Amino acid sequence: MDPVVYRILERKRHGEELTLDEVRTVVDGAADGSWGDAELGAFLMAASIRGLDDAETHELAQAMLESGEQWDLAADLPTLGDKHSTGGVGDGVSLLLAPLMAALDRPVMMLAGRGLGHTGGTIDKLEAIPGVELSMDRARCFRTLEAHGMAIGQATGSIAPADRRLYALRDRTATIDVLPLICGSIVSKKLAVGPSAIVFDVKAGSGAFMQTDKRAHELARLLVQTCRALGRDARALVTDMNQPLGRWVGHTAELQELYECFAGDGSPDFLEVTFRLCEELCDLVGRPVSRDEMETAIASGRVRERFEAWAAAQGADAAWLRAPRFELAPVEVLIEAPRDGVLAAVATRELGMLLAEAAVGRAAAEGAADHSVALRVERKLGEAVRAQDPLVRLYLRRDDAALIDRFRAAFKVAETGDAPQLVRDRVV
Ligand code: URA
Repeated sequence: MDPVVYRILERKRHGEELTLDEVRTVVDGAADGSWGDAELGAFLMAASIRGLDDAETHELAQAMLESGEQWDLAADLPTLGDKHSTGGVGDGVSLLLAPLMAALDRPVMMLAGRGLGHTGGTIDKLEAIPGVELSMDRARCFRTLEAHGMAIGQATGSIAPADRRLYALRDRTATIDVLPLICGSIVSKKLAVGPSAIVFDVKAGSGAFMQTDKRAHELARLLVQTCRALGRDARALVTDMNQPLGRWVGHTAELQELYECFAGDGSPDFLEVTFRLCEELCDLVGRPVSRDEMETAIASGRVRERFEAWAAAQGADAAWLRAPRFELAPVEVLIEAPRDGVLAAVATRELGMLLAEAAVGRAAAEGAADHSVALRVERKLGEAVRAQDPLVRLYLRRDDAALIDRFRAAFKVAETGDAPQLVRDRVV
């Protein structure tokens, strides 16, 4: 037993505030392996139950970011922005926001991930383009930014290794869902890359990790304050995730949605969230944009050109880029309204889980995500429906009656129901 480790665990278990040195000792112990899983698990549980205050959270993020590589990209690109979403269903905003910012001459980079639980990952969606390869180190990221004004990828190097260890242990110790730990984890990785400013899209509702507005607001506040305390400007929007965003859910399908936006046929909610986040980020880096500039950039074809030039540089198949195809899974199933009324509720998290489950058959066999499984939204919350009107259209690999029944149960039609407010809160 190490008396220093023991004392830190005991103090946190009693609900005492740790000194900054003590927080750093924990993180260093996670990074260099001197703390075992038992000690780290005990820390995570004590911190979850007793809490970490803002100062402890800031130090946690700072120490985690210092545990690995620091790219400090803003040193070379002082107006570089970054956007981070806490994860939802149908949230393909990054796909449009990146080339939009690039077309407006505002450089943007995003380290992105794969799907987690019910959420789809930006990397999976982009890999639905044949040939695309998204591994990224600092040199590649910088070259890509210089050439295309945008970079999206998965870090190959060691960004915040302490977080990787703590995250894996959180998954085993039921401490994933803890705001200061989430904040430290996200901020450490964002700031290790070193953009000059970050906008957070904190999702709230039935398809979000934060189900209530109150928790979403608290996470938004914590993310923004922690970034500021660590010397980077940030803002957050809390946006609705009580139903899928936009018109499509699924990897290939969300690419199709991107191309619908390029063609001037974007879903209004998807465009609104993208524009609001883009406005916040452009403001933050000191180069505001108007709605008109954003709409013109899309309508002129410049955003699509940016996206395709970037995708080509990432290895996208030239034939695909000349004639993009969006192959959806072959079994089309309509989920209909059971009665007259209003679409009143969508179990959005359940929908995301069901889509992930539907994609598993082929994915397991081939060791890869099935990009073609999809859902098309036909009605939004608050819309009136007649019995047998389509609510959503599914594109599945197999005609599985039990699975389809579970999809059906995710929708509630009632006498009354409201359209949720799309942007619910703003933290600056
Ligand atoms: N994403 C992260 O990177 N970390 C968390 O803890 C939650 C979401």
